[in-house]
Amino acid sequence: MLTGNRSFYRRPPTYPAVLRTAVQIKKQCPAVRLFTVGKSVLGRRMIGLSLGNLSAPVLFAGAVHAQEWLTCLLLLRFFDDLSAAYAAKTELCDLPVGKILERRGLILVPLVNPDGVEIAISGPASAGRLADFVEQTARKDSRSWQANARGVDLNHNYNAGFSVLRRMEKRNGINSPSPRQYGGEYPHSEPETRAMVALCRRVCFKRVFAFHSQGEEIYYSYGEKTPPNARFLGEVLAASCGYSLEEPTGLASHGGFKDWFINTFSRPGFTIEIGRGENPLPVEELEPIYARLLEMLLIAILL
Ligand SMILES: [Zn+2]
Repeated sequence: MLTGNRSFYRRPPTYPAVLRTAVQIKKQCPAVRLFTVGKSVLGRRMIGLSLGNLSAPVLFAGAVHAQEWLTCLLLLRFFDDLSAAYAAKTELCDLPVGKILERRGLILVPLVNPDGVEIAISGPASAGRLADFVEQTARKDSRSWQANARGVDLNHNYNAGFSVLRRMEKRNGINSPSPRQYGGEYPHSEPETRAMVALCRRVCFKRVFAFHSQGEEIYYSYGEKTPPNARFLGEVLAASCGYSLEEPTGLASHGGFKDWFINTFSRPGFTIEIGRGENPLPVEELEPIYARLLEMLLIAILL
């Protein structure tokens, strides 16, 4: 890790600081490619970072849910160390980083929901032309905002059991844009969702991992398209970090990114719920969570 980046990992990740850190990481390791995956509702960039063999890479995606911004810090913290070890030809966790990445590369999208994270960290004023809407919808609690700037929960917006999920949302009294759990007017209605869908159609991902908080849990299944090896892969990941392997229930059981990925490609997709406590997890939790998950993150690339 670059010493210049250390202060970035000690506070919530504002949008300009994320962009700055990504550029620093690329500087420390010229083999890293920094690119734009798409744009948010308010025109903020969803950045991508890639490293290694990209013929069938692995995807790590974070900060889908706004107040779960610690996942963005975790993924950049990991990629920072990973790319530094790659450039220096050293090991991480006693594992040969160069060999791992030459076999299978990694694409990182650390901030899937850049507008939402700004709302959760800096308040409704950061939502520009939608500031009034966010102010009214958040009802003085923008810190626990989960949706994008239009009040759509991006992990309810994917085309996987969308109509079933819509009925469940309605039963829970969610009929319109909300700080959380409103799936949007139709599947893939949001630019952030469409950008992730386009990325997955462009790149042949071997596996995808979506990072959320909290619960210390790993989810691996979505209906009958769940590949037969997914449970075993999940068991390996869970054994590495001591998280529990779970099956989704209730409102979390449709419409999510990993659900759509499994359903569309019949390849393994996972949701990792990092940490334990009340969201937003405090930034002081980053280092202990990282220490616990580092080996698992490397294995997730290798598997
Ligand atoms: Zn989440």
